Amino acid sequence: MAEKTSVRAVKGMNDVLPGEIARWHRLEALFRRSMALTGYREVRTPFVEHKPLFVRAIGEVTDVVEKEMYAFTRHHDELALRPEGTAGAVRAYVEHKVANAEPVSRWYYLGPMFRAERPQAGRYRQFWQYGAECFGDAGPGSDAEMIAELCAFLSAAGVTAPRVLLNSIGGPGTRVAYTEAVRAYLEPKKAQLSEDSQKRLEKNALRILDSKAPEDHAALEGAPTLESVLDEADKDHFKNLLGHLDALGVTYEVDPKLVRGLDYYTRTLFEIKGAKEKLGAGDTLIGGGRYDGMVEQLGGASVPAIGFAGGLERLLIATDDGEKKPVVSVFLAPMGSPATTYALVLARELRAHGVTCDVDTRGANLKSMLRRATSLEAPYGILVGDAEIAAGVVEVKDLNARTQEKIARSEVVRVLADRLAKGTP
Ligand code: AMP
Repeated sequence: MAEKTSVRAVKGMNDVLPGEIARWHRLEALFRRSMALTGYREVRTPFVEHKPLFVRAIGEVTDVVEKEMYAFTRHHDELALRPEGTAGAVRAYVEHKVANAEPVSRWYYLGPMFRAERPQAGRYRQFWQYGAECFGDAGPGSDAEMIAELCAFLSAAGVTAPRVLLNSIGGPGTRVAYTEAVRAYLEPKKAQLSEDSQKRLEKNALRILDSKAPEDHAALEGAPTLESVLDEADKDHFKNLLGHLDALGVTYEVDPKLVRGLDYYTRTLFEIKGAKEKLGAGDTLIGGGRYDGMVEQLGGASVPAIGFAGGLERLLIATDDGEKKPVVSVFLAPMGSPATTYALVLARELRAHGVTCDVDTRGANLKSMLRRATSLEAPYGILVGDAEIAAGVVEVKDLNARTQEKIARSEVVRVLADRLAKGTP
């Protein structure tokens, strides 16, 4: 049994095979481009951090910290695989005293995160997030810019009609007051709550708002709304954010129930959702918000911040149009050993001109070589044998049009490089 399981990937952790990678690369490049257009630069932090960092940053009474962390002890250190990217980014920002060097920092990241969740469609135990943090700007303009640029990115990626949901949870004071208001409201109904929520009532009543248990929803009917506790500055911040978004032409829905699972948020919260038909229950593509208190809480100066993270796998599901890209542009099929040498030299020349090629050096028959050319979706095949070598030509097959022509060996590199650069098959 042990032998059987040891050659399987860990449940909820997926391989990305080469056949799928072109779509990952496309989205990653689009994301990097979108970030560069907005003045963001990449930060790479370790996949492993001290566990207490996540407990402090994310909050003790959250699903991520309570149930989902891959934590372990090594060399007497309590460590954890990162479940999200913000805690590590803030730790790095504080540790390297970045705030002393520049008033505003824009950082993005791209990489795997780990959460021991129940795997299902769009929910994995290792998943990739693309995300960003903007440190040092408390203004609602930076919230609006982040959301608008994300909409532009999603549209470039091919997401049709994303839905932007927004809410304000107020400053830290408001959060405390609101959490208490929810607690006081639910206290007399404690027995009706789910087991998890009963535990949360004392420790973090706010988390009950985004519980999925129907009994919790029923108990929350008529609970005080967030709006009733926002102070004037919070309301003003939110109003300005909405004004900027209107000017930027971003459509949004204000959702007073949106509280999100992590503890660190202040003021703006947002989610961007994709189509339910494609994504099912995992239709949240991106989640984000302000966390004005976290830098200080982790030992830095009082620096406001806002960030977001999106799941790359979910974006892949949302943008799958079934299209495949060729693996190489030219497939060389040599017949015989001298022809193989000849093809290797020709392929080197083609590659030096930026043309991707695959040489079939198996010594296989023509039919099976051409089958490979088709499966790689190469637009061109080059056939060479002793006769072609002697005549100083190669047979070039247009594998889409199914035509064939003889081209002089001395011309073929230039001809194919030109045709491929022009995109004309
Ligand atoms: P969060 O860090 O929980 O706010 O999640 C931000 C985004 O990351 C979500 O909207 C999803 O797109 C993605 N995400 C979160 N958890 C998972 C998971 N277990 N598997 C796949 N994607 C996830």
